[in-house]
Amino acid sequence: MDEEKATKNPYRCTHCGYIYEPDKGCQKNKVNPGTPFQETPEDYRCPVCKSKKAGFVKIK
Ligand SMILES: [Zn+2]
Repeated sequence: MDEEKATKNPYRCTHCGYIYEPDKGCQKNKVNPGTPFQETPEDYRCPVCKSKKAGFVKIK
């Protein structure tokens, strides 16, 4: 068991400060709870400001 999976880290939108939490997912993007940010769809957009995935940074 690897409890320190990097994929479970939350990501923050650098444009508006929205935080994507893998445990919660994102209803607006139809992302199920438990989905690592890296596994969200390529066309995932910030639900607040519609920034692309490239605009997100990993939070430790
Ligand atoms: Zn945003």
